[in-house]
Amino acid sequence: MTARLIDGKALAARLRNELTSRVAQLTSQGRGPGLAVVLVGDDPASAVYVRNKIKACEDCGIRSVFEKLPADVGETQLLDVIDRLNADPTLHGILVQLPLPRHLNAQRVLESISFDKDVDGLHATNAGLTLMGVPHFRSCTPYGVMKMLESTGIELAGKHAVVIGRSNMVGKPMAMLLLAANATVTICHSATRDLPSITRQADILVAAVGRRAIVTADMVKPGAVVIDVGTNKTPEGKLAGDVDFNAVKEVAGWISPVPGGVGPMTIAMLLTNTVESAERAAALA
Ligand code: NAP
Repeated sequence: MTARLIDGKALAARLRNELTSRVAQLTSQGRGPGLAVVLVGDDPASAVYVRNKIKACEDCGIRSVFEKLPADVGETQLLDVIDRLNADPTLHGILVQLPLPRHLNAQRVLESISFDKDVDGLHATNAGLTLMGVPHFRSCTPYGVMKMLESTGIELAGKHAVVIGRSNMVGKPMAMLLLAANATVTICHSATRDLPSITRQADILVAAVGRRAIVTADMVKPGAVVIDVGTNKTPEGKLAGDVDFNAVKEVAGWISPVPGGVGPMTIAMLLTNTVESAERAAALA
């Protein structure tokens, strides 16, 4: 059996195309969406992520504001910048690129973003609203995974979804969105006993661990939908997921690749959240 591919790159391109017309509509009313991107320090990987996000904004007409701060910036100074961005009515989203340098309290910084501009969906209020089944901003990566699942046309209600990983950014909100779609959800983590016996029960399997090829073919139920969130580097420096793609595709019914799967969808959902935020602001005006 060869699984059908869930092409995140193509799906993200379609979503971004749709967003372009929504952005044009808002802009024509003088209410074009704006996103602030805050980068602290000189981490090269973070710089690439930020550049990609800004370019994606430009491509669909979203105005972006880039705030670059030195690695040794004080927390008060950073919070002052966020206060200023919170108060700017032309900005509908604020994103602080993670990870932050160790001397900064990341949770405190994320909580200082107005929950109404928290387009990454990481503020406690947004996490709580997702938990309660009434999301305001959904965390971008799980939101993208839900769109990928939707693209398969498979009904999630009653399916057993297994999520490997319980981070606040991916695993937990992923489980909550699947639960809201009426899946029966199991969350696995590093202390889970006999992981393969659980993953083999999954109709939907989402791997969000950060360990290359942790999901092998013998861990997958024939015909299951397998979504690979992981981003790892091979010894040759190439990007690889958490799933042993070549072997698992022979067992699964649907599978997402890395690269070209969840990654492009995460950016598309950041843009979606920003446009949704601008549309909400326009409706209130
Ligand atoms: P994280 O905060 O490091 O969380 C990893 C999770 O995996 C933890 O809950 C951990 O369990 C669990 N885990 C570790 N070893 C395990 C094992 N042997 N068996 C079962 N579970 C295990 O990472 P994250 O932020 O959620 O990200 C996960 C991966 O997705 C990373 O590779 C990251 O780079 C990638 N990612 C990709 C995108 C994208 O857009 N493509 C976006 C976000 C993240 P404990 O809680 O017990 O430690």
